[in-house]
Amino acid sequence: MESESRARQADFIRAEIDADLAAGRFGGVVHTRFPPEPNGYLHLGHAKSIFLNFGVASEYGGLCNLRFDDTNPAKEETAYVKAIREDVAWLGGNWGDREYFASNYFEELYAYAEELIRLGKAYVDDLTADEIREYRGTLTAPGRESPWRDRPVEENLDLFRRMRNGEFPEGSRVLRAKIDMASPNLVMRDPTLYRIRHAEHHRTGQSWHIYPMYDYAHCLSDSLEGITHSLCTLEFVNNRELYDWVLDTLRVYHPRQIEFARLNLTYTVLSKRKLIQLVREGYVNGWDDPRMPTLSGLRRRGVPPAALHEFIKRIGVARADSTVEYEMLEYCIREKLNASAPRGMAVLEPVRVIIENYPEDLTEEFEMPWHPEDATFGSRKVPFSRELFIERDDFRLVPPKKFHRLSPGVEVRLRYAYLVTCTEAVYDCDGRLLELRCVYDPASKGGQSPDGRKVRGTLHWVSAKHAIRAQARLYDKLFSSPDPDRAPEGETFLANINPDSLRIVDAFIEPALADIPSGATVQFERVGYFCKDTDSIPEMPVFNRTVTLRDSWAKMEKRSRD
Ligand code: ATP
Ligand code: MG
Repeated sequence: MESESRARQADFIRAEIDADLAAGRFGGVVHTRFPPEPNGYLHLGHAKSIFLNFGVASEYGGLCNLRFDDTNPAKEETAYVKAIREDVAWLGGNWGDREYFASNYFEELYAYAEELIRLGKAYVDDLTADEIREYRGTLTAPGRESPWRDRPVEENLDLFRRMRNGEFPEGSRVLRAKIDMASPNLVMRDPTLYRIRHAEHHRTGQSWHIYPMYDYAHCLSDSLEGITHSLCTLEFVNNRELYDWVLDTLRVYHPRQIEFARLNLTYTVLSKRKLIQLVREGYVNGWDDPRMPTLSGLRRRGVPPAALHEFIKRIGVARADSTVEYEMLEYCIREKLNASAPRGMAVLEPVRVIIENYPEDLTEEFEMPWHPEDATFGSRKVPFSRELFIERDDFRLVPPKKFHRLSPGVEVRLRYAYLVTCTEAVYDCDGRLLELRCVYDPASKGGQSPDGRKVRGTLHWVSAKHAIRAQARLYDKLFSSPDPDRAPEGETFLANINPDSLRIVDAFIEPALADIPSGATVQFERVGYFCKDTDSIPEMPVFNRTVTLRDSWAKMEKRSRD
């Protein structure tokens, strides 16, 4: 089983790990980590990293840690920590008792920094941030050494301790690694290791006045946790040299960093900064708005974790950046929901149907399977009576070619119930369809054709008297452009927001659908997949559209119009 899944998931990362194991590196152990910064909610891109890190660990019989990379007190919050835990667990990430925080290591990281100073490999620099930038040079010009670069060790130690004690204002000094101001790799031109911040940290409070930089804290955290393979995204390729330098200079245990391509998706932004902006400026209703590419948004929309797993498996892990089609994600969602979602009937844009030859006060109940292909779902009873609702769109006074639904004189099947023929369409004086009058064939009970006569259309319906009113939130893509970041001159990605990303309609649902638990996803037959939302109240269930069904008719219609 294990080797099987390993074979299926052959990619360059697994190949590198195989090679390490074959060469006897890391004592045959695989230990990864997922290292989110708690400065926002996790999104689809993180799902890729989660499945990769936890997946690799489990395939090789190893472990994966959850590590909060909380080295920037200004942007981090405990609420994000909680949300991140929930999201990782939702995707099946199991970190056991190995939940760590970079801030747990602040004392060790500090001690390592003093050691670097003693080794003559770090110094306190009094240049301002602007000066440091200016001294750094460019890709074509070497940098210049800071006048403070050759401070004696004792002076560096003294200043660094006083930085820690909070004696200096923010921005007045930093601790820098002493590497090479002429390195062709800009990252190696005496990178900053510590900066002064008199901020409140969500876990360590006011106890620190200096905070380690990501590049310094990350490699040492990996080392302290005994990580074997530190998997990160491509933008850290140039940082690997520094990762290795810190660990080699300190002569500590040395994990291996391997970079892979970030996930990019059409019609989607996956930058935390932009997602925060969408939330703060009210373009969406919070982090878990079903239009958000956040894991909590996808969950609320009704996307099953298995669909995300399938999606990430399909796109694979590569070394080169690329952009994945949004439709591929939708495809994976439909695939999984087709198997896992029970079916039910709901009408979103109703028109009343009166069956003139059906008894006034009769109610029949039809037993319908919850799933057409899987009997283990069981069945439910659906009431039928003289007045029904069907979709307004399922009727045309003058049917276009290949329209196999209801129109005057045409017979259709009401799913699992009866065959009915439309006798009259009633309009109001504004030309709006008011109701449809039909007759039914009592011999067609269950929706069977009694004499083999051909009936092409099958419609879903709800009994008007028994229907429960519900709210349907019809979500569409949040951005109308495949590349939201490409905005007109002078504008931002916000200019590409889809003004029709949410349409709310009143729906009528069959009674059994009102009782499903919130968070459950069902297929409204012929309409789409819908997830019962936590906003539901008994008087008004709320359903979020997870994804539409492929509507071949709509496509055909569009083609004939174009
Ligand atoms: P952002 O750029 O949106 O702020 P980030 O990389 O800063 O994201 P982190 O919290 O640091 O966010 O990410 C945690 C882990 O998830 C990192 O290992 C990071 O490389 C990975 N990750 C983040 N975004 C993506 C993505 N789009 N595709 C794949 N992995 C990602
Ligand atoms: Mg990051």
